[in-house]
Amino acid sequence: MPELPAQEPLVKEIPPKGADLSAWYTAVCLKAELVSYAPVRGCVVLRPYGFGLWENLQRELDARFKATGHENAYFPLLIPESLLIREAEHVEGFAPEVAWVTEGGQEKLEERLAIRPTSEAIIGVMYAKWIQSHRDLPVLINQWANVVRWEKATRPFLRTMEFLWQEGHTAHATAEEAREETERMLDVYRDFAENVAAVPVYAGLKSASERFPGAVETYSIEALMPDGKALQSATSHYLGQNFSRAYDITFSDTDQQMKHVYTTSWGMSWRMLGAMIMVHGDDRGLRVPPKMAPIEAVIVPIVKGDETAPLEKARELAAGLRAEGFRVRVDDRDRSPGFKYSDWEMRGVPLRIEIGPRDLQSGSVTLVRRDKAKGEEDSKVSAAFDALGTTLRTQLEAVQASLYAQAKLFLESHTFAVNDRTVFFERCKDRSGMIDIPWCKRADCEAILKNQTSATTRVMRELQQPGAVCTACGEPAVVNAYFAQSY
Ligand SMILES: [Zn+2]
Repeated sequence: MPELPAQEPLVKEIPPKGADLSAWYTAVCLKAELVSYAPVRGCVVLRPYGFGLWENLQRELDARFKATGHENAYFPLLIPESLLIREAEHVEGFAPEVAWVTEGGQEKLEERLAIRPTSEAIIGVMYAKWIQSHRDLPVLINQWANVVRWEKATRPFLRTMEFLWQEGHTAHATAEEAREETERMLDVYRDFAENVAAVPVYAGLKSASERFPGAVETYSIEALMPDGKALQSATSHYLGQNFSRAYDITFSDTDQQMKHVYTTSWGMSWRMLGAMIMVHGDDRGLRVPPKMAPIEAVIVPIVKGDETAPLEKARELAAGLRAEGFRVRVDDRDRSPGFKYSDWEMRGVPLRIEIGPRDLQSGSVTLVRRDKAKGEEDSKVSAAFDALGTTLRTQLEAVQASLYAQAKLFLESHTFAVNDRTVFFERCKDRSGMIDIPWCKRADCEAILKNQTSATTRVMRELQQPGAVCTACGEPAVVNAYFAQSY
């Protein structure tokens, strides 16, 4: 078995995660080559390794959208002002962050064009043209796109002026169908977060103050970051007839009556990648769940002098694994094994396969798991050449499950059911995690808390104890809600 590296030159450049999460996060995003800052304020460049993460998110989510009957389409980036302003609440909510095009080809435009902050307006106008009869419904369309929201701060994936996302927009004949769709897509997001990104979440309805501008109801999935702050990772909105009235989307129903459709919209952005990075990373860098990993396993040949046999064998094994559908890379760079180990650890590749001269003789290789600490039980396993694919599959599943289990344990141990008002306020102020309380659902109760601690409601669920009173104000409670500081 090859010796462990004596030094880890790259890892030293990353600040410890526990000391300063923000510094750690930025360092990891840059050093793992996920992003670079762009020459435009508020924007980042998504580098190939970062784009690889996005592609895996896209592939997994897209498959789930297709399986639930959706199709992809593409709508224009620019939205005439007169269209955007038709839904009053919507435009009021987005006005502070819209970027406008006022000139084109050296001429001042007669009407300003918004760079889409979201596409309800432009899609609504098209649906009004396409939908005539109940036979045209439902319309189930998703768009993979970029959007722009004017931002002053830049934090890779979490807060950028331009970002990548998907936005689903559907139209239905009945409110009931549209509500079902809203909840179905919330569950698609929960499933993706937990089973692909290995990020456990609380999924549920948001309070009125946290609603999407123009929505009747907004649902979200909320993940908990290591600093005790919640991160909203995707939203699903029931829009009722607000947008169909604004954009005049009508259909003749089976009873020959003209009616407005019921619409939904739902989105997940590259913010989800930010959640995944923060939840799983450690002091050595990223830890990418196998299902999201651009490289599932890296093969590091241990070569001494002019020896070529380990490298040749590494290439042969890699070709075999690729043929079995694995995403593998052979690291044939002219660098020491120690450098390569820490480099790939920093990039969070789930498994490292080491192959040296002695392994060639024994006909086996050593697999090292990124989710485990050095020397921890099961952190290394040996695999015979001819069983490598099988072992790899088993180990990738084990890494996926273990990352989820670690994150789940963190979420559970940082969720506090509280019914004492003082404790509740203290915990909210201290960013302790998700604070679960019976709540009266009144906005002023929420506002007082927000003013005093800056914590907000994340999602609500059914009242857990009949007859309970609101922990914040003592009035009769209506629901249970998770409160937390948020990103
Ligand atoms: Zn209250």
